[in-house]
Amino acid sequence: AIDVQQLHKYFGDNEVLKGIDFHIGRGEVVCVIGPSGSGKSTLLRCVNLLEQPTSGTILVEGDEITDPDADVDALRARIGMVFQQFNLFPHMTVLRNLTVAQEKVLKRGRAEATQVARANLEKVGLSDKADAYPAHLSGGQQQRVAIARALSMNPDMMLFDEPTSALDPELVGDVLAVMKDLASEGMTMMVVTHEMGFAREVADKVVFMDGGVIVEEGLPADVLGNPQHERTQAFLSRVL
Ligand code: ATP
Ligand code: MG
Repeated sequence: AIDVQQLHKYFGDNEVLKGIDFHIGRGEVVCVIGPSGSGKSTLLRCVNLLEQPTSGTILVEGDEITDPDADVDALRARIGMVFQQFNLFPHMTVLRNLTVAQEKVLKRGRAEATQVARANLEKVGLSDKADAYPAHLSGGQQQRVAIARALSMNPDMMLFDEPTSALDPELVGDVLAVMKDLASEGMTMMVVTHEMGFAREVADKVVFMDGGVIVEEGLPADVLGNPQHERTQAFLSRVL
C-alpha cells in the first residue's frame, strides 16, 4: 500500500505538487491522468524518491520513506519502476539486464538470479530473447523486458510512467496485456497513462491531476464516464 499525505514539491520557485493526498491499497491499480506538465511524473518520481519531496509524508507498506533516516536503497528496491523510454542497458543481453541488479542489490547468486530472470521473461512472453541485445528488439519487446527486469526484483508495487507512449500503435497491446496480467495477479500498481481503455478496464481508481493538484478521483466509470469537474471534462473531451 502507498499513503501520500500533503506532498509538496518545488523546483526552485515553481511549485509543481501543491499538496497531494492519496491512498493505494494493496493489490489496487490506480491510473493517473492529466495534461502535460500537471505533475504526474514528478508525483511518481517522488514515490520512489527519484525526486526528493519538498514536504509531506509518503508511506510504503507503513514505512515512511520520507523519513530522513530511511534506507532509501532498500525502500527503492521494493518499488519497481517502468519508464516511457525503456532504459535498458544497451551493452548487456536481455538476460543480463534482468540479473545484474538482482546480484548487485539483492546479492542473489548467478544461478538464482538467472532462474528468476527466465521465469519473468516467460511471463512477458520473451523466453526466446534471453540472449538478444536490446537494440535487436522492437520497442514493445524492450518495454516488456523492462517490466520483466523490474519484476525480477520482487517489488511490492510497480510504478509505470506512460509505458506505452513511445511505442508504435501496433505494439501497445502486448505491453498493456502484460500489465493487465500483473494487475490480475494482485500487483499494486500506479500507472500514468493516456490509455483510457486500459484505465477504464483495469483501474480500481482513476486520479485526474491538473496544475499540481488532484482535481478529481474515483471509480473509472465515474471519473471517465461522468466527470464532475469542468477541468476533467475539458481534458477528457480532448483525449477521448
Ligand atoms: P507530461 O504529461 O508531459 O509527462 P507531467 O504531468 O508528467 O507531464 P511533470 O514532468 O511532472 O509533468 O512536470 C511538472 C512540472 O514540473 C513542469 O512544469 C516541469 O517543467 C517541471 N519539472 C519537472 N521536472 C523538473 C526538474 N527536474 N527541474 C525543474 N522543473 C521540473
Ligand atoms: Mg510525465
